[in-house]
Amino acid sequence: MTGSIQPKPGILKIAPYVGGDSSILGVEKVHKLSSNENPLGTSPKAIAAFQAAAGKLERYPSSDHAALRRAIALVHGLEADRVICGDGSDEVIGWICYAYAGPGDEVLYTEHGFSMYRISALAAGATPVVAGETNRRVDVDKLLAAANDRTRLVFLANPANPTGTMVSADELVRLAAGLPPQALLVLDGAYAEYVDGFDAGLGLVNARDNVFMTRTFSKIYGLGSLRVGWGYGPGAIIDVLNRIRSPFNISAAGLAAAEAAVKDQVWVQSCRAENSRWRAWLQSELASLGIPSDQAEGNFILARFQNEAEADAADQALRRAGVIVRQVKGYGLADCLRITVGTEESCRLLIATLADFRKRAAT
Ligand SMILES: *Cc1c(COP(=O)(O)O)cnc(C)c1O
Repeated sequence: MTGSIQPKPGILKIAPYVGGDSSILGVEKVHKLSSNENPLGTSPKAIAAFQAAAGKLERYPSSDHAALRRAIALVHGLEADRVICGDGSDEVIGWICYAYAGPGDEVLYTEHGFSMYRISALAAGATPVVAGETNRRVDVDKLLAAANDRTRLVFLANPANPTGTMVSADELVRLAAGLPPQALLVLDGAYAEYVDGFDAGLGLVNARDNVFMTRTFSKIYGLGSLRVGWGYGPGAIIDVLNRIRSPFNISAAGLAAAEAAVKDQVWVQSCRAENSRWRAWLQSELASLGIPSDQAEGNFILARFQNEAEADAADQALRRAGVIVRQVKGYGLADCLRITVGTEESCRLLIATLADFRKRAAT
C-alpha cells in the first residue's frame, strides 16, 4: 500500500533547491549572472592540477584530505587539525544540522537567509525558525530575541546571500556572546574572499567555543563544478562532524584542484580587484538608471525595482538580450533581482539592456 511508507516528519516540507538557470531557448551566447560564479573562471594552476588527476582515476582519493587541509591552514593561519573538508560547503552545513539538531530543536536564521539552512534543518528533523531583518540586513537584536533554550544552531552568511550586506565584527561578537549556551553560531563565509582584509569571523572562532565557520571553493576560486568546501571550528565539533562524514566525500580531482587553487592567492587577489571594480561600476550605473541597491560586499548586487511586476519585466528584457540573472522571490524579495558581477562585456550588456528597458517604460 502506498501511503504506509512515509518519510520522517519535516522532509515533505522541503521545497527542493532551485539553482540559477544556465540556458535560454534559442539564445546561443548566454551571459550567466545567476549563480555567483567567478566570471574569470579558475586559476590555471588549479586547472592543471585537475588535468593531472586524470592520470590515476582508478585510485580512491585521500580520506583525511591532509594535503588540502595543510594548504588551507597555511594560507589562512589555521590549525590543520581543526579544518574539515566537504563536498561543497553545503555538505558541511548538512553535517552540522544532522549532528546538532533534531526533533524538538530549533535552527535559527534570518528573513532573507540562504535557503540551504532551512533545507538542512528540515532534513535533520529540526524546526527552522526565522528572525526578521531590518532593511535587508541581519539584525542581531532580532536574532537574540528569537533564540531560546531550544535553539541549537544559528546560521548567518557574512556577506549575506542574496542581500549582499554585512554585519560588523562588533555585532558578531555581541551575537556570539548573547546566545544561549547550547547554541552554536555558524558563520557562512562563502563570499568572505571578496571583502578586503576580512577574516570571515576567524577571530571569533578562535576566541570562543560556540562559533564555527564554513567556506567554499565554489565562488572566488571558480571551482563550483567540483564541489569542495570546508569548515573550521572547535576541535570537539570537528571530531563530531568527522564521525558522520563519508570517508571518500571529495574526489581526487576536487582535492587536487582545490589545493592548487588555495595556493594561488595571486589569482584570488586579481579576481577580488576585478570584482570590486565592476561591482562599483554596476552599482553606480544602476543607481543612475534609478535602480537602487544596498552597498554590495560580495560578487553580486541585489537590484531593487519598483515592484514585482517591474522586476519580472526587467528579467524578461534581460533574457531576451541573453543575460540570465536570479529571481529571489523565494527569499521574500519579489521586487528584486540578484545580479552576479560578470565580465566587463556582460556588465556593459546588462546596463545597456536595462537602460533600454527603462527608456521604453518611460515612453
Ligand atoms: C554559494 C554559497 C555557498 C556555497 O555552497 P557550496 O556547496 O560550497 O557550493 C554557501 N553559502 C552561501 C550563502 C552561498 O551563497
